[in-house]
Amino acid sequence: MNQGEPVYSGKAKSLYRTDTPGQLYVRFRDDITAFDGEKKDVLTSKGSLNAMVSAKIFSLLEDHGIPTHFVRMEGDCGMIVRDLRMIPLEVIVRNIAAGSLSRNYPVPEGMPLDPPVIVIDYKDNARHDPMLNDDIIVTALRLVSREELAGIKALALKVNEILRRFFADIGITLVDFKLEFGRDADRIFVGDEISMDSMRLWDAATGVSLDKDVYRLGKGDVLEVYREVAGRVRTGDGQK
Ligand code: 5GP
Repeated sequence: MNQGEPVYSGKAKSLYRTDTPGQLYVRFRDDITAFDGEKKDVLTSKGSLNAMVSAKIFSLLEDHGIPTHFVRMEGDCGMIVRDLRMIPLEVIVRNIAAGSLSRNYPVPEGMPLDPPVIVIDYKDNARHDPMLNDDIIVTALRLVSREELAGIKALALKVNEILRRFFADIGITLVDFKLEFGRDADRIFVGDEISMDSMRLWDAATGVSLDKDVYRLGKGDVLEVYREVAGRVRTGDGQK
């Protein structure tokens, strides 16, 4: 693969063109940020841990018939992906109350949510990713049709069921996670990444955080917990 010109650089990943039309190279960098980029650090090998976990999760989803942008892993820190027109929505599925749900509403952290709660935020850093509702998404912002939105929510719930089972088998409770979607022609695919940066994971036995909350809340050595999750995801691979 020849890394082509840069297309986009986010807070933790950079995107490049490749020799193959319709495919991009995503490089997971060692940068970690929180609070809209106010807190930032560089953690050696964080990029490769998130790349590996993302690649495993995308392959798992593909095996279950979920359309994703994932084509293949490329080196230790990268993935080849389908070039999507991204939809600026952050689709969050919550199985247990935590994070902004418990901060912004009187819902105690740790309360199970059954059925899972879907929250959709507008991906716009300058506006601090405000929460949306269906009418704002469809009628005001015109990002997707009502049918597409229903399809996106159904896909997010399917992904939740697959990931919940996968993580339960490796002793991890999937508290919540964020997905992003994009289009190729008229089809909608799961894009971006699914990693310890975008999921809230609690150890099933002890309840301790195994995700970016360790960094956000200064709860310990974030690289150590990312390594722990990556190790378990590797062993869980055989259970696909
Ligand atoms: P919360 O709304 O509680 O902050 O986040 C809910 C879930 O979505 C968490 O697992 C969190 O990591 C993920 N999430 C929410 N916003 C973002 C974001 O802008 N970037 C990433 N990587 N994950 C996010």
